[in-house]
Amino acid sequence: MCGIVGYIGNNNASEILINGLKRLEYRGYDSSGIAVIVNGKVEITKKEGRIKNLEDCLDTNNISNIGIGHTRWATHGGATENNAHPHKVGSVTIVHNGIIENYEELKTDLVKKGYEFKSSTDTEIACALFDSLYQDNKDKLEVLKKANKTLKGSYAFGIIFDDDQNIYAMRKDSPLIIGVGENENFIASDVPAIVNYTNKYILLEKNEYAIINQNDISIYNDDSSKINKEVLVYDGDIEVAMKKGYDHFMIKEINDEPDVFKDLLNQFNANDIEKLVKKMPKLNQYDSITIIGCGSAYHAGLVGKVLIEKYANIPVNVEIASEYRYKNNFNSKNSLSILISQSGETADTLAALRKDKEKNIDTLGIINTVSSSIAREANDVLYIKAGPEISVATTKAYSAQVLMLELIALVIGYQNKTISKKTANDIIASFQELGDLVKDVINKTDECKKIAQQVYEKNNIFFIGRQIDYSLCMEGSLKLKEISYIHSEAYAAGELKHGTISLIEERTPVFAIVTDLEIEEKTISNIKEVKARGANVIFITNDEVSKKYEKSDFYNTKFVTLNKNEFINPLLTATAMQLIAYYVAKEKGLDIDKPRNLAKSVTVE
Ligand code: GLU
Repeated sequence: MCGIVGYIGNNNASEILINGLKRLEYRGYDSSGIAVIVNGKVEITKKEGRIKNLEDCLDTNNISNIGIGHTRWATHGGATENNAHPHKVGSVTIVHNGIIENYEELKTDLVKKGYEFKSSTDTEIACALFDSLYQDNKDKLEVLKKANKTLKGSYAFGIIFDDDQNIYAMRKDSPLIIGVGENENFIASDVPAIVNYTNKYILLEKNEYAIINQNDISIYNDDSSKINKEVLVYDGDIEVAMKKGYDHFMIKEINDEPDVFKDLLNQFNANDIEKLVKKMPKLNQYDSITIIGCGSAYHAGLVGKVLIEKYANIPVNVEIASEYRYKNNFNSKNSLSILISQSGETADTLAALRKDKEKNIDTLGIINTVSSSIAREANDVLYIKAGPEISVATTKAYSAQVLMLELIALVIGYQNKTISKKTANDIIASFQELGDLVKDVINKTDECKKIAQQVYEKNNIFFIGRQIDYSLCMEGSLKLKEISYIHSEAYAAGELKHGTISLIEERTPVFAIVTDLEIEEKTISNIKEVKARGANVIFITNDEVSKKYEKSDFYNTKFVTLNKNEFINPLLTATAMQLIAYYVAKEKGLDIDKPRNLAKSVTVE
């Protein structure tokens, strides 16, 4: 995925590039590097690991006004200094976000031409390709266009040539924006990288090429025609992207949830179901839905499936995007595909969207990042309005995705007459209380910490639940493992006895989620089965269920949220699981916002 930045102007390029890269660190942090032009010569500095490492070794005497920078999430070649970007071959220096799929065959040709390679990246091969094209033809726009025809895969590039003082940019499937300043211009993978300097930017589209200098931005299409592009204005508050006094972005973002829910609901400004139907895209013409996502977005889809099937009475298929894109899918004629992605750039989800569009299937994106690729390419988009999410482990965006799917369940259910006006309106009215109810969960910090202390030294943890509680278990388990590095698995409670129960031994922690009142007794029987085998049962439930089992001894610890309704309850449990995961990772002293091997926006396959 990686983050790209570039700067050209009158100020200190190194400093601006480093600041920009820090804002993009969520996109990957295996290594980082910058290339700046000092006295007409390209100087490259790169370092393994966090951007801090790069910053510490920069030569402050190297004052330059032009440069490109990169923070890497390795796809080809280890996370070493040697493989870090920028790469320079001959007269060309590049930073790259994406994957070059045909790099091996290109390498064979380039080796025949005498090129030698220092790294094991696909990027260095692309760099040599640029150089070889440049040696044949000094028209740089032609070089870019030819490279674009030759390269296969996904990419955005920032490029500098040895013999001039411009930044060149081009992209195919990875995002790239051009920041428009006063006597200075920028390139970046994402707006936060430039917003300290300018809030004006241009979205570079697929197969467009930019030549950027201090006072001019020229953009060309594949016919070499110069094109006029709209200058967009970012009006978000960058302060919201800051930690606001919390120890980590993750806990700040959990605390954002009440406001996120409010903003999400306010955009519809609908206090009854009929108004909500009018503000939503037309959803009643579909006889089935496919929800597609990766990771937590996929898990949000699983919660949505339970509610849409139950309340709207139409079949919902939830698919992992990386699987969906390569298999034979049986979407019915009147089917809607809902693509869920926080960044709107998730490569597999984007590919699934394009596959469905080719088959003329209607598509709806549930997206956080405005103007992102999925938001632009889907037939319709619903924004979750969660604001920037910096912590790699998603919290507020996942919860907002669930809430958006709940609204979809309500709207389709009402239109299909499987849910009455009164029920729909009661549920909509209950959302008024959602913020306060989530705050009540967040205030149970001490309880979460106590649970964290019980489990943080364990090597294996299980999550069990049925129906919607099982979907919540999937996300609870992922959240825990991704930031605490404890192996954890989620199981449908009734499935345990078909194998997994053999893993339960004395004091194995089992989180048992029981909020679904219709099936609660069944899950409790399964909890008793693991308790009888020595498990340390952490019972996550609501006050209604809890009352019934006050005197029972099938659990060791209990965490209770309020029983409101089937739309509010999952959101309260989700927040509880996020908090517990957070405090487990905190207890272990881990780098919570930037867990190892992960990146925020997964723009590679
Ligand atoms: N494929 C390039 C590398 O591994 C860029 C990776 C990316 O964009 O994530 O260096």
